[in-house]
Amino acid sequence: MMLRIENYNITVHYKKGKEMHLADTLSRAYINAPSRQEDFEFVNMVSFLPIREERLAKLKVRTENDENLQLLKTTIMTGWPDDRNDLPATLTPYFHFRDEMTVQDGLIFKGERVVVPESMRGEMKTAVHSTHSGIDGCLKRARECLFWPGMSGDIKNFISTCETCNTYQSANQPETLMPHELPSRQWEKVGVDLFELDGKDYMVTTDYFSNFWEIDRLENTTSSTVIKKLKAHIARYGSPCILVSDNGPQFTSENFQEFARSFDFEHRTSSPYNSKANGKAESSVKTAKALLRKNKEGDQFLALLNYGNTPSQATGTSPAQRFFNRRTRTLLPTTATLLKPKVDLDTEKKKLRAHQKKQKTNFDKGAKDLPHLEEGDTVRMQYFTLGHKKWTKAVVTKRLDDRSYEIQANGSLYRRNRVHLKKTAESASPEPSADSACNRPQQPPPTPCPTATETTTTPQPPAKMTPQRHQPEAPVKPSSPSKIPVSTRSGRTVKCPKMKDFVYIADK
Ligand SMILES: [Zn+2]
Repeated sequence: MMLRIENYNITVHYKKGKEMHLADTLSRAYINAPSRQEDFEFVNMVSFLPIREERLAKLKVRTENDENLQLLKTTIMTGWPDDRNDLPATLTPYFHFRDEMTVQDGLIFKGERVVVPESMRGEMKTAVHSTHSGIDGCLKRARECLFWPGMSGDIKNFISTCETCNTYQSANQPETLMPHELPSRQWEKVGVDLFELDGKDYMVTTDYFSNFWEIDRLENTTSSTVIKKLKAHIARYGSPCILVSDNGPQFTSENFQEFARSFDFEHRTSSPYNSKANGKAESSVKTAKALLRKNKEGDQFLALLNYGNTPSQATGTSPAQRFFNRRTRTLLPTTATLLKPKVDLDTEKKKLRAHQKKQKTNFDKGAKDLPHLEEGDTVRMQYFTLGHKKWTKAVVTKRLDDRSYEIQANGSLYRRNRVHLKKTAESASPEPSADSACNRPQQPPPTPCPTATETTTTPQPPAKMTPQRHQPEAPVKPSSPSKIPVSTRSGRTVKCPKMKDFVYIADK
């Protein structure tokens, strides 16, 4: 009956008896003799099942051989007990759905969904996830036609350990902003970063307090050149307490460590490819690049002078004012009073702090902190090699600071920021689990570029990792036969890009 009237779109309105002007004749003319009303619809669910003939046959055989399903079949055919406790334990999960359970053509159905025998659940999970779509999509597909108790959980588990999905997952969303601690005075903390523009190398040295920066042209990017330039700044402004840089070879060299010791400053490095950790210097690099580019024709020094005297929106004072406590004279007509020292450090600090807070609020709208990882956790990490988008399985060996970790992958140690790691439910062993047909063996990581490598250390159970960073100054030597330059069809030699993912050996 229900199936027949499904063709009509009926709207039912309630009307009181007194408003019914026609006598309800039919309700009075009921049939006295109890007659059997043959009003059944026979629907064969099997013919609606979107399953290949071959698999359907297999499903029938497996259902036939499944002891529990046979027991279930008998229960459906003979009737359910009133109390679920009267059922064998294996059938209790079906009790709740007993009104929906039917047997048709040797298969068991829950509504329109076929009940899958245990021996075929693995195969079905693989089929549902054959295109490696996400958990929600797979569940929707499965819930249309398949059923077994705990199916959703099983499918979720299956996908969370899928080798392919874990290898090609999307990046983490950014973590919330961790504003650097505002130094109490000028030149207490400085950030250094190198950049290249039009084939020339430059170094930017930024003061964290005032945002005042110096720019140096570098003949080369070796440690000794960088140290020489930094020494000149130290001679002018004094030795900073903290110097922040990335893990570039010129900063990780023994030479630079010695420089830090002899000039008595703490050298802090950021995780590879997490430039945000050295954000101050990074943003100065951006400004410096734009400034140099725009003033290619004009006087770049004049441009620097003007930039240093431009008040920032956040505080209303210029970097020069915050750094020297006075304006420096530019080509704009300025009275002598304006050039006299006059800056209240405490007010400046308050303004800077308020600005930091505002920045954090804005940034954090699209960010979320990731849970901390524990030693021994299995994770997925990315190699920072151009074009290498895969996430490789790794194990956390140590937590280095709030957001960076030392991890081990394919027998090598790496340092990674938390945002470049994804926790996985997989086991640490590299072998894919036998259950999943979509688990293909992982490809080895790409061969490192000669100049620009993901440099690694061989894993050693370090009783104590020494603070040495024995990193060669110059580009890392090619360790493989990849010395032969790669050429395109037109004969152009392809240069590998410079990478900054370096050896990490430290005892911090
Ligand atoms: Zn997958």
